[in-house]
Amino acid sequence: MSNSGKLIIFAAPSGAGKSSLIKKIIEISENKLELSVSATTRLPREGETHGKDYFFITDKEFNELKNNKAFLEYANVHGHQYGTLKSFVDEKLEEGIHVILDIDVQGFTQIRNTIENTVSIFIIPPSFDELKKRLTLRGLDLDEVIKKRLENAKEELKEAESFDYIILNDNFDNAIEELSSIIFSENYEYNSQDNLNILKDLLD
Ligand code: 5GP
Repeated sequence: MSNSGKLIIFAAPSGAGKSSLIKKIIEISENKLELSVSATTRLPREGETHGKDYFFITDKEFNELKNNKAFLEYANVHGHQYGTLKSFVDEKLEEGIHVILDIDVQGFTQIRNTIENTVSIFIIPPSFDELKKRLTLRGLDLDEVIKKRLENAKEELKEAESFDYIILNDNFDNAIEELSSIIFSENYEYNSQDNLNILKDLLD
């Protein structure tokens, strides 16, 4: 793969605020960052658009793409298939655009050792209670889906330490400032200790 742009991998438990952070960081990047649009077999939520939020496809279509090796990585997340399209990512990187992948930890594990020039970032919430509150407040999912997402959260958090950076999303503006430094500053001095302590509490 040609690598003029960087591949920036974002993962987080559902409800940690990853999507809002990604949206904001792209907004302030002045066209230097783009979000990779994944394919998924999950149904669109209200307000989601095909080709913008995801390529919403059937299981049959997904399996065909899988067989044709069209995915950089793919995974079953919360009972649905999701995959990053190689063609989409390659094209942007060749244009020198940094590409953000919003993927789960299984996807990260598949690509971490295969692609050079990646930066991986794991977003953590301040507490489990806060995570539950955010999932409930956003009102996107049914109670049983929220329960499943919270169960998965613990498993995902166990993988956080294998990412280059762990970022706390307690205060949105602080998190954005830290992310900007990681992505845009050459000499950012990352101090992981506080966030590692919070991670430890989340895992206890
Ligand atoms: P949602 O259904 O809420 O949009 O996404 C659920 C989870 O699937 C999120 O953690 C998101 O990061 C992950 N996800 C979205 N697209 C992909 C993808 O292409 N590959 C992988 N591995 N995970 C994805």
